[in-house]
Amino acid sequence: LIAIDNVKKRFGDNEVLKGISLDVEPGEVIAIIGKSGSGKSTLLRCINGLESIDEGNISVAGAKLGASELELRNLRLKVGMIFQQFNLFPHLSVGRNVMIAPMIVKGVSEAEAMKTAKANLEKVGLGHKFDAYPDQLSGGQQQRVAIARALSMSPQALLCDEITSALDPELVNEVLTVMRGLAKEGMTLLMVTHEMRFAREVCNRLVFMHQGKVHEIGPPEELFGNPKTPELQQFIGMTQ
Ligand code: ATP
Ligand code: MG
Repeated sequence: LIAIDNVKKRFGDNEVLKGISLDVEPGEVIAIIGKSGSGKSTLLRCINGLESIDEGNISVAGAKLGASELELRNLRLKVGMIFQQFNLFPHLSVGRNVMIAPMIVKGVSEAEAMKTAKANLEKVGLGHKFDAYPDQLSGGQQQRVAIARALSMSPQALLCDEITSALDPELVNEVLTVMRGLAKEGMTLLMVTHEMRFAREVCNRLVFMHQGKVHEIGPPEELFGNPKTPELQQFIGMTQ
């Protein structure tokens, strides 16, 4: 579904991605782990076209990520992205926050957008908050609205960048429970996360990034149980 082939990305003379290759199959749930600065966020941003790449290729559902605005627009329709900060529109109700992108970007009718928004808010356990405003919700609830908002564009895959990192510890699980449900439904997920237990239990593959490269990749039980490189051994040691 997502094909990443020898992708390189520089910021000035800092080469942040040094030839990343990764194929994501439909329905896969992949966690990307690694130290701060290893290039995890940059990789997600490149897949979503938020950053341009210097070398290599990325394609999503057969469509190559090129430079044209139209191609970028099409790509962003296929992959949703959720960030650490929820970035909801404070002056719009929860329901409107979820409805706005399909209406503006896809030209979906208001009635249709409302129906989809209600269903997706239901899915994240917030059907009853349709008319509430973001500042009336907890951080965990706001992040679940952000998930519903991403789902409202019917993406083929979701890219998640540390979506629980800004939350108080007691709110992390409600968001991870929603992600677990999406994984069960077969949604393709590519998640940068520090939640090692979640990575171990839910993901079918784990990508350990180190200094801009995929340093180790495989099923979580293999990477956690038998890390091959000293870098991964050290990283696992740090997180336990
Ligand atoms: P963290 O765990 O802290 O979020 P990360 O693995 O997501 O780290 P990135 O944010 O991808 O790391 O950053 C990788 C490197 O790229 C860092 O050295 C960072 O300083 C650099 N970098 C990222 N974005 C930019 C930018 N817009 N301009 C210049 N340098 C950048
Ligand atoms: Mg990051």
